[in-house]
This record gives sequence, C-alpha cells and structure tokens, in this order.
Amino acid sequence: MTLGGGDRDYPPADAAGFVEFARSLPTPMIYDAIKDAKAIAPVYSYRGTENRLRHYERLSHYPENLVIVGHAVCAFNPVYGQGMTVAGLDAQMLDECLQKQRQRYPEGDLTGFGRHFQQKLAKLHTIPWTFAISQDSRYRGSEGAKPNLATRLTINYMDLVLKALTTDAKVCQAFLEVLHMIEPPTLLFHPKIAVKAIGQFVTGRQKLEARKQN
Ligand SMILES: Cc1cc2nc3c(=O)[nH]c(=O)nc-3n(C[C@H](O)[C@H](O)[C@H](O)COP(=O)(O)OP(=O)(O)OC[C@H]3O[C@@H](n4cnc5c(N)ncnc54)[C@H](O)[C@@H]3O)c2cc1C
Repeated sequence: MTLGGGDRDYPPADAAGFVEFARSLPTPMIYDAIKDAKAIAPVYSYRGTENRLRHYERLSHYPENLVIVGHAVCAFNPVYGQGMTVAGLDAQMLDECLQKQRQRYPEGDLTGFGRHFQQKLAKLHTIPWTFAISQDSRYRGSEGAKPNLATRLTINYMDLVLKALTTDAKVCQAFLEVLHMIEPPTLLFHPKIAVKAIGQFVTGRQKLEARKQN
C-alpha cells in the first residue's frame, strides 16, 4: 500500500496516522480496505519527489563513446511508478540503435553514435516527462514553468479519469497501460473512457454531497 501527498499534506510514517491519512482521501475505498487490516511491515516514508531531466542531447560538444541512460538522464517523482519502465525502454532503444550501427558499420565504428542516441532518447522521454511534470505542477509548492491552458485542461480531465478508475476496472486498466507506456496517452481520451470518466464524476459528486450531509 502506497499513499502519496503534496503541499505539506503528507502521509505520516506511523501506522495509525497512515490509516487516518487514507480516511482523508476523496474516496473512502482505500480507508475501508485497510482500516481493520493488520500491518505486516512498518511504514516507510520517502520525500525525494522531484522530476529531473538533463538535456545531454543539447551539448555542443558531445563526447565520443559515451551513452547515458536511466535516472542519469531522466528521473521522475516515484509516485507515478514509471522510472523502471522508462529505464527499460532506454535499454531497449540502446540495443536497437547498436544493432543498426553494427549493420551500417560492421567494422565497429561508433563515431557520432552517442550524440545520435541521446537525441533519439530525448524524444522517448517526452511523453512520460510531460505526464509527470503536468501532474506535479498542480501542487502550489512545485517549481518550474507554470502549466499552459492545454496542460490545465488535461490535468482537469485526468482528475476525472482518476476518480473513475476507483470504481471502473476498464478505466483503471486503461490508466495503468498508459502509465506504464504499453498504450499511448490518447487511449484515455477514447470516447469509451471519456464517457465513463464524466459519468463517474457526476455520481462521485452526488456521493460526496451525501457523505457531507451525513
Ligand atoms: C521510493 C521509490 C519508488 C519507486 N517506485 C517505482 C515503481 O513503482 N515503478 C517504477 O517503474 N519505478 C519506480 N521507481 C523508480 C526506479 O527505482 C528508477 O527509475 C530506476 O531504479 C532507475 O534505474 P537506474 O538504473 O537508472 O538508476 P538506479 O536504480 O538509481 O541505479 C544507479 C546505480 O548506480 C550506483 N552508483 C551511483 N553513483 C555511482 C558511482 N559514482 N559509482 C558506481 N556506482 C554508482 C548506485 O548505487 C545505483 O546502484 C521508484 C523510485 C523510488 C526512489
């Protein structure tokens, strides 16, 4: 069980506080699932939530015989659970690029390979990076460029998807497939998902109102 927070609203690292934090979430689902459960391990907390992208592809003099992958290039807020996927895709791309290089230069020449690879890698990182920073930009304490209108609309839409996935297995599956880069982000805007997201939002509001009144 992982709980995350932001803007000084963080899950406490003691068992009782952790469960209480779950109660403060917009949906009671997680609290209901853990309130009577027995913890089998202590709570561990982690506050390294920054996103970091290094633009090695923009270096005017890129050194020969050097490639940089994984966290050394692009590190994410771990709450989105995409760092290992991206590191794996980096390794896959390196393998493909090296195979092509070998076909082109069977004698093993790697001149210019590193720079070309970093440029391709930068494109691969665009989608997961945009996802992470647009979600994190909603926190008042986040640093960096403020989101534009398109990003703000995407964030609002993602809120609907996040609410819907707590009660709809198909929306949940689509979200996880996009998060782990098995499917493109456009899947979340498919009419089948959009209708569920908006529908669940209406139901969710009604339930929230009912809870407030009780
Ligand atoms: C709390 C937390 C939860 C996470 N949860 C998820 C998740 O659910 N899903 C997911 O996909 N990703 C998750 N991630 C992200 C994932 O762990 C990283 O994206 C991934 O480990 C990056 O792999 P890497 O090989 O690039 O770097 P690392 O795994 O950081 O490996 C770098 C290695 O280099 C070593 N090293 C550093 N400097 C030197 C040096 N000078 N000399 C020799 N060795 C050195 C380090 O000791 C380390 O072993 C999480 C990360 C954290 C912190």
